Amino acid sequence: TSLAAVRARWKYEKWHAVHMLTYVTIAVSIPHQFVNGTTFSGSATSATDTLARWYWAMLWTVSVGAFLAYRWLRPVWHLARHRITVARVDRNNDGTISVWMTGRSLQRLHPQAGQFFMWRFLAQGMWTQAHPFSLSKSPRGDVMRITVKPVGDHTAAIADLLPGTKVMAEGPLGRFTAHHRRAHGTVLAGAGSGVAPMVAILEELDSSGPIVVFLRARTASEIPHLDEVRELAHERGATLYILEGRRSEGWLPQGLAASMTQLAPAITASDVYVCGPKAWADAVLDEARACGAPEEHLHREEFAW
Ligand SMILES: Cc1cc2nc3c(=O)[nH]c(=O)nc-3n(C[C@H](O)[C@H](O)[C@H](O)COP(=O)(O)OP(=O)(O)OC[C@H]3O[C@@H](n4cnc5c(N)ncnc54)[C@H](O)[C@@H]3O)c2cc1C
Repeated sequence: TSLAAVRARWKYEKWHAVHMLTYVTIAVSIPHQFVNGTTFSGSATSATDTLARWYWAMLWTVSVGAFLAYRWLRPVWHLARHRITVARVDRNNDGTISVWMTGRSLQRLHPQAGQFFMWRFLAQGMWTQAHPFSLSKSPRGDVMRITVKPVGDHTAAIADLLPGTKVMAEGPLGRFTAHHRRAHGTVLAGAGSGVAPMVAILEELDSSGPIVVFLRARTASEIPHLDEVRELAHERGATLYILEGRRSEGWLPQGLAASMTQLAPAITASDVYVCGPKAWADAVLDEARACGAPEEHLHREEFAW
């Protein structure tokens, strides 16, 4: 069920239920292997038997060990070592929620702007679920920030997190970072909650190459951290376009017509970072390709599961 072709057709909830059932099936089958299975019960009668036992024992140990190590032990170790804690929760004017977290020696996690963690907030009603959220501020010192758009139960509950809540974090994950740039210039295109990683990446860029930022929304008041983006763009000499208006088939709002080359003249020598709703992100990347941006300069983060 983790094949891309299957995931593309299934809703997250269905995939998650099957995934959890698989864990239960494996957990139930392990004792069965020892009691009834021929591999581990009784004594080995030949060299092939012994080899098979070692082979299966190793396979079980590596699989179960990797699950325990990466899904549980590492996050618990991070919790004990880094003590990530909610420091502040902001309800932003655009409807998003920003969670500021502090901890000890967070730089030893080597987080980069644009990456995400699987966050598990150890609060009542929330600790059973880990959800992915990107850093919305360049992680400096011992502070990290995420910005969340409430779309369901879990994301809505984040607004009520109390300062002091402990957090388990699995990560950092993802390659959507400024470190993977290959070109001189940079184009950042974000829409909706997809603006979050753009703020962090913009903060990490210097003004050595041309930077163009596209932020897409129905109205500017719906764009998270807009004042912060304006200030960062000003400091870095970046050109900022607020693409306001109704949805269209293309990458620009209805009624606007321009090519990406007109708005970002260095497009062929720029890395293009895109994060936003699928149809819009597809349209941005198609436009970038049509304007001559090489495939290896295109970077995309999808907030879909
Ligand atoms: C790599 C990545 C980075 C993300 N970064 C951000 C961010 O910075 N800001 C932000 O607002 N949103 C981000 N998201 C989306 C966010 O994780 C989901 O909106 C959130 O998990 C929804 O949870 P919910 O219970 O509130 O909503 P639900 O109603 O339960 O879910 C709504 C939809 O969100 C998706 N979803 C739900 N749970 C998960 C999960 N555990 N993992 C992946 N997808 C899930 C499913 O498509 C689901 O149908 C990111 C997603 C990914 C994959």
